[in-house]
Amino acid sequence: MNEERINKILELAAKRQGNMTVILENVMDYHNLGAVMRSCDAVGCFEIFVVFTVPSKQKNDLRLGKKTAAGSRKWLKVNYFTDLKTCFEMVRSRYQKIWCTALEADAESIYDKDFTESFAILFGNEKDGVSKEAMALCDGNILIPQVGMAQSLNISVACAVTMYEAYRQRFIKGFYGENNPNDATTKQIILETYMERNKQKDRVRSVPVIKNNYDK
Ligand code: SAM
Repeated sequence: MNEERINKILELAAKRQGNMTVILENVMDYHNLGAVMRSCDAVGCFEIFVVFTVPSKQKNDLRLGKKTAAGSRKWLKVNYFTDLKTCFEMVRSRYQKIWCTALEADAESIYDKDFTESFAILFGNEKDGVSKEAMALCDGNILIPQVGMAQSLNISVACAVTMYEAYRQRFIKGFYGENNPNDATTKQIILETYMERNKQKDRVRSVPVIKNNYDK
């Protein structure tokens, strides 16, 4: 590996935000999944959580929006689950708060929310939104304000808007520079993961998902 490549990976790892992530609940469209991954990579997420509670989507060879993700997949861990409880247990073990986006009138605006603490945000299915079961497992509900005729945004757009508000707040606090929020262990895990991934070919082959395991 040449020095330029090593420096690029070191820089990428140094900007990763090990204390912010998203959870996708039954998001079915591969283009949406790919677009979410691309946005999450862009704002510095290290991993995301994908939960499919519907039987047709529980296959290991699930392909996650390869084209739309535009290469970001290699640098974003995807933790895949088939039940909400296990997924939430793992998210809770790593992130302090979990907020959902259940599109209810009493939800807090994302522009009033502090995204500099450790958090996960749950986004819901294209048609049915966030389920009641998932909502009950969250700490609160947040919303992107809308003043148009349509009642909701596309999931990948909602994710990008929300995560870029988080980026904005974190950037101001220097989280992408000298005040990176990762502890020493997280820094180590991220760097080791990326050094390992760098050895893989750019074209991720059959199984892009990591099943319920942080350390693989
Ligand atoms: N009929 C569904 C509902 O009532 O929730 C619409 C689902 S929307 C197309 C898909 C997902 O995008 C939602 O579950 C939510 O996660 C996210 N979303 C859409 N608009 C949003 C907004 N204004 N604020 C936050 N999240 C939003």
